[in-house]
Amino acid sequence: MPYRSLEVGDLATNCYLFFAADSRQCLVIDPGAEAERILALIADERLLPQAVVLTHAHPDHMGAAAAVTQRFRVPLWVHEADEKLMRSPAGRGLAAMFGVTPPAAGRLLADGDSIAVGGLELKVVHSPGHSPGSILLHGAGLLFTGDTLFRGDVGRTDLPGGSEDELRRSLERIRELPPATVILPGHGPASVLEQELLDNPYL
Ligand SMILES: [Zn+2]
Ligand SMILES: [Zn+2]
Repeated sequence: MPYRSLEVGDLATNCYLFFAADSRQCLVIDPGAEAERILALIADERLLPQAVVLTHAHPDHMGAAAAVTQRFRVPLWVHEADEKLMRSPAGRGLAAMFGVTPPAAGRLLADGDSIAVGGLELKVVHSPGHSPGSILLHGAGLLFTGDTLFRGDVGRTDLPGGSEDELRRSLERIRELPPATVILPGHGPASVLEQELLDNPYL
């Protein structure tokens, strides 16, 4: 599988390194905290980060983003709706509770965008509900779901910009993906879509 993961921070956020095995080019997905551990894994795997991508702009997913972008001089990519959220008073307040300063965004992502890294490709699927600019990243048989979908559960919708109706529609889009798709959530263990369709009450 073309990724490595590590759990970081007080909320045990999954940070993923998605990479091409030959070129070692890599995306750093949701560097939530503990920059030193993330940088150490990047070095151990001899990876070459090309960008930091956020599944959404909650502080537990971006606490080490500035450290990674500065270390490798790479941009930060986030959906435009969550970029707006993290600049808003509500977003800044939430970040401050975690001691996180919102990092500067480079490219703003939109539904249907493609992200290429070392010959691999991830498609951006806008999945509002947990936050207005939550995204799924789909490619290479993997689905990075952020806090939209967990094993046996879904993300909360009571934070600023959250919406239960939107989350329901976003889950509908997940249902249509190939059943063998590996689910890589923002917290907790991995799963397979087929299994979630069987026993996740929200799907
Ligand atoms: Zn979240
Ligand atoms: Zn989270």
